[in-house]
Amino acid sequence: MTRVAQAHDAINLAQGFPDFPAPAALKEAAAIAIAQDHNQYPITWGVPAFRDAIAAEYARAYGIEVDPDTEVCVTCGSTEAVMASFLGVLDPGDGVVLFEPFYEAYGPDSILTGADRRFVTLRPPDWSFDPDELRTAFAGARAIVLNSPHNPTGKVFTREELALIGELCIEHDAIAITDEIYEHITYDGRTHVPIATLPGMRERTVTVSALSKTYSVTGWRVGWAIADPRLMQGIRSTHDFMTVGAATPLQHAGITALGLGPDYLTAMASDYVVRRATMMRILGQAGFDAITPEGAYYVMADVTPLGFDDDVEAAMHLVRERGVAAVPGSSFFADPAVGRHLLRFAFCKRLETLEEAGRRLTG
Ligand code: PLP
Repeated sequence: MTRVAQAHDAINLAQGFPDFPAPAALKEAAAIAIAQDHNQYPITWGVPAFRDAIAAEYARAYGIEVDPDTEVCVTCGSTEAVMASFLGVLDPGDGVVLFEPFYEAYGPDSILTGADRRFVTLRPPDWSFDPDELRTAFAGARAIVLNSPHNPTGKVFTREELALIGELCIEHDAIAITDEIYEHITYDGRTHVPIATLPGMRERTVTVSALSKTYSVTGWRVGWAIADPRLMQGIRSTHDFMTVGAATPLQHAGITALGLGPDYLTAMASDYVVRRATMMRILGQAGFDAITPEGAYYVMADVTPLGFDDDVEAAMHLVRERGVAAVPGSSFFADPAVGRHLLRFAFCKRLETLEEAGRRLTG
């Protein structure tokens, strides 16, 4: 393969979508829902049986009691759920604490809301933060945005870190908007702790998740927000005027997805253990200094051992000369300089895809 052909035929380890099939049961359920004519607008905040299934899943997985009639809003993916939470709960000028690096959408979400943003930096190699920096950022804040397991670092916030965040929320009468879309992808015995389960946090937390990552259906655009009715009212109204509702037949298929239960979730997570090991081996062989993720399906890799001092230059080199696409780390930071030496690789791919990327990176 010529170098030019490689650039046109790059292996996409940039975007976080699987290149392997979605579970057959979901595809069948979606086809059946369409055939059964579940094809019109849903109730704005979600098909009732799907909201029931979401409530049942939070009770089963985390012991969180959710009222499906008043506390759930089904959205077009987790992306819309976070946006609707920002717009529906916050006012312009409200202080919002964000950890950086952060999933790119939180940038525009907070700007469109007119939030007064305060960034707290997660620092490599363990992506820990300075508790005092967090305390300072919380002064006068109305909300914090949390994402655990975390994109792009793979950090899983510890119970102690979550406890501190919870204490600060209570002390400052702030809410947590928590994006838990990778809740079922954790490694090395770690388990996901929803911040809503911590003392005093249930009524001040908006919990966001989606079918997208857990069930490998990122294109379905089905997610949800869960919150106390006082917060949910604004979220539902915002959602109503942004998108009216998420795709009706795919919400019906979502009932099947949530019904797949723990066996599916365990098998899905063990497949990611193998993909993570493969990705780490490949990045090591290619000379990157990569930081092992604790959850989610991304790795941040330092490009300095390869002689680069600029992430965009490194990403352009890899896609043009090696045919492998990754995301420049600086795009995840409010201060791009902090991520200038990093690339993010997504490993939600078939093992063959990862091995081919490995051949290209080491060849
Ligand atoms: N939140 C995080 C942290 C993500 O990494 C992503 C996708 O990469 C999303 C949300 C998007 O979720 P959805 O496809 O459900 O909108």
